[in-house]
Amino acid sequence: MFIDRYGRKITYLRISVTDRCNIRCVYCMPAEGILQSTHQAILRYEEIALIVRLAAEHGITEVRLTGGEPLVRADLPDLIRMIAGTPGIEDVSLTTNGLLLGKMAKELAEAGLRRVNVSLDTLNPERFARITRGGSLQKVLDGLDLAEVWGLLPIKINMVVMRGVNDDEMESMAQLSVTRGWHVRFIEIMPIQNQTPWGEGFPMPADTYYPIPEMIERLKEAGLQKVDDKVGSGPAVEYCLPGAFGRIGFITPVSEPFCSQCNRLRLTADGNLRPCLMSDIEVPILQTLREGGDILPLFEQAVLLKPEAHELQDQHAPAGRCMRQIGG
Ligand code: SAM
Ligand code: SF4
Repeated sequence: MFIDRYGRKITYLRISVTDRCNIRCVYCMPAEGILQSTHQAILRYEEIALIVRLAAEHGITEVRLTGGEPLVRADLPDLIRMIAGTPGIEDVSLTTNGLLLGKMAKELAEAGLRRVNVSLDTLNPERFARITRGGSLQKVLDGLDLAEVWGLLPIKINMVVMRGVNDDEMESMAQLSVTRGWHVRFIEIMPIQNQTPWGEGFPMPADTYYPIPEMIERLKEAGLQKVDDKVGSGPAVEYCLPGAFGRIGFITPVSEPFCSQCNRLRLTADGNLRPCLMSDIEVPILQTLREGGDILPLFEQAVLLKPEAHELQDQHAPAGRCMRQIGG
């Protein structure tokens, strides 16, 4: 079992399978895009499977695939099959923008994927196209329908709430927990390499921050109540609306960090173990792996380097990578 210096058990590995994406959300990457890693610099599926096997032998039970956009990497179901078949792995899930979900939901479910989190910041097609710089809302909605059909449940929707951009849709997004039974999680925007202007019609990035306590106050008017029997293991505190099957969660990295409960380790697409989303500390494992070396000591090192808490509140945002490269 991996246990860090502060007694936290590390049971969750979040793997970024690519730094590529088929859209460019304004809060995640610049309009011109970012230099992408070459195929050679990216972990191969066999290498990821080997890392997962080792991690599972040391207590990792949950794996989430992310990116970039994980569904743009070729043959992702092959990787899911390998991970889902690894002894000790109890849960394989995926965070996606949903654009390719319609095409792939069946194949993903058949490969052993249990559930999906879909990032969706608006239900307005024009606004969706503006925030994502060209994405199609309808494709995501079709993808969500098919994810339901193929049992990728429970569906969780992640909305990054931005003041003056989409905050007026909080109530309608929350209603999806009633009308569709989906879990809806509201996320505070993090100041990770996204502070240069987003383009015409957008507020200045620093003005878009919308703190969770304010979101909660606002949704109380729609009947928001705290729930005691939490269904998820994640960092979100859970709430619900009257008559809803789905839960409402708030992910509060900036105003109320959840570091004391953090059970995560991240693996970047280019083979670095990252102990904390918000810290630039990384332990490279790709070269050792390719040279046939032992990567267990590197895992142990990454676990021991896990900081007690991140420093976002002191305006210490990570500078080395943007969210697309870390995996969110
Ligand atoms: N492409 C996939 C997606 O969008 O779901 C997976 C990768 S994306 C980096 C993972 C999550 O990070 C998404 O839910 C996205 O909304 C969130 N995210 C990206 N940049 C963010 C930021 N600056 N602040 C808060 N959340 C952010
Ligand atoms: Fe791509 Fe996800 Fe970043 Fe949007 S949030 S640009 S979908 S990686």
